[in-house]
Amino acid sequence: MFFEDLKGKVVLVTGGTRGIGRAVAERFKGVGATVYITGTSKERTEAAAREIGVKGLKMDVTDREEVKKGVEEIIRAEGRIDILINNAGITRDTLFIRMKDEDWDAVVNTNLNGVYNVTRAVVPYMVKKRSGCVINISSVVGFTGNVGQVNYSATKSALIGFTKSLAKELGGRGIRVNCIAPGYITTDMTEKIPEKVKAELLKSIPLRREGEPREVADACLFLTSEMASYITGTVLHVNGGLF
Ligand code: NDP
Repeated sequence: MFFEDLKGKVVLVTGGTRGIGRAVAERFKGVGATVYITGTSKERTEAAAREIGVKGLKMDVTDREEVKKGVEEIIRAEGRIDILINNAGITRDTLFIRMKDEDWDAVVNTNLNGVYNVTRAVVPYMVKKRSGCVINISSVVGFTGNVGQVNYSATKSALIGFTKSLAKELGGRGIRVNCIAPGYITTDMTEKIPEKVKAELLKSIPLRREGEPREVADACLFLTSEMASYITGTVLHVNGGLF
């Protein structure tokens, strides 16, 4: 069976209450992994975890102390974290000239500092085990840029450098670090895009459709499985040919 090696792995997915993170949690659960999802609200996270049949932890990635406590809780319960999927992310789209400091800070704090906070807390335990996988969810706009997304695309480009540098540091410890750059995926995040803009966007996608969260989740399974055992420091584009 495919992904047999992922059975029993302990997986932490940040931002798993909906969208891509939720699909990632469902796919890992489907192959027999022990999955933890996180979110900013205790109620929402626990409800989603119950629905998927995984474990839920209120862990706001911008809150360094809460992240440390959350990671320690998983380590106490499971003894290790084998796979970290840094998925939690937000947008605060607006033209740069109108951007408020809060729009900049919120996006950088969640999408970049959040990835630092969680990875910094998890990696020492992976180093101890001399094994592990980290996946950072970047975005196509980290490569192309986008009007109204100076803050968002800056954080998504930053994750590429983060991934490549960390892969170099941790390769010798048996830890692989990779990035997935999704294109246009149907979730609450893309729900906000006006219909007219969506129609134009679809024309520029060679596969002529939006992606499904499951299609990003499948890329996560591949990159964390033995099938990708010689892949680190790279970016896998999941975008229907958009870029
Ligand atoms: P959604 O808006 O559908 O879901 C975002 C998830 O992140 C929710 O579970 C939310 O949980 C969680 N989250 C937000 N802020 C925090 C925080 N501070 N701490 C913990 N969890 C948090 O987004 P998508 O599923 O669309 O996106 C997931 C990732 O994929 C993001 O990093 C996004 O940038 C990236 N991406 C998405 C694309 C798309 O087309 N959808 C394209 C390219 C990249 P809650 O609100 O319950 O706290």
